Amino acid sequence: MIVIKSNREIELMREAGRITALAHQKVAEAIVPGISTFELDRIAENVIRENGALPSFKGYGGFPASICASINHVVIHGIPKKNMILKHGDIISIDIGACYKGYHGDSARTHAVGKISKEKEDLIRVTRESFYKGIAFAKPNHHLSDISHAIESYVKMHGYGIVRDFTGHGVGSNLHEDPAIPNYGVEGTGPLLKVGMTLAIEPMVTIGKPQVKILGDGWTTVTVDGSDSAHYENTIVITEDGCEILTLEEGETNVEK
Ligand code: MG
Ligand code: MG
Repeated sequence: MIVIKSNREIELMREAGRITALAHQKVAEAIVPGISTFELDRIAENVIRENGALPSFKGYGGFPASICASINHVVIHGIPKKNMILKHGDIISIDIGACYKGYHGDSARTHAVGKISKEKEDLIRVTRESFYKGIAFAKPNHHLSDISHAIESYVKMHGYGIVRDFTGHGVGSNLHEDPAIPNYGVEGTGPLLKVGMTLAIEPMVTIGKPQVKILGDGWTTVTVDGSDSAHYENTIVITEDGCEILTLEEGETNVEK
């Protein structure tokens, strides 16, 4: 069942989204060659707690940290570690969730560590752009799969792989709610979008093949072919005339240029 949120609930999610975005901003500022993913986790958790929220991921399904930190061919769910040190030329996907008064914000960004290759830059850009192509269809009376289809089309047009084993999702008083939101699909199918639905849209894109596997720790999800991967996610709410992004950082805009 897809839960429609009240204005009061959306207000709480707006605050959760603001805190999530603030944590991203502080983590992004700290990303330099030589820092560990453990240190990035500490920074994010401190921002979240200082703002009266809780890290959504910590303990979720047994996940041991506050953020997911996924380097290069790690697609998602990388576990922060003291001995996981960022190197010049890496890309790192950071996924953060903050829970404010019982409501979650969920968003992800992929960052460059120092100077990166043109290939990696393009991957990060296209992944972000595909999110915006998708949410062009995030408006009342469009089908959910219109978003999915737009993301898939844009990613494939650039010759990248779109991960199928993980999806976006509804979000609210639970971190993961109905509906599942695949990053692929046929237009005009699935539920109709309605004002007050809150959704986490999150394309996961690979330079090579889209197949992924989960490592022995039960979390770390990597590309099977070892190719690099990027992730871009925001929590949005469907409004009368489209959608509002609840997890934008200061300086980011609702419209992709
Ligand atoms: Mg996320
Ligand atoms: Mg998510």
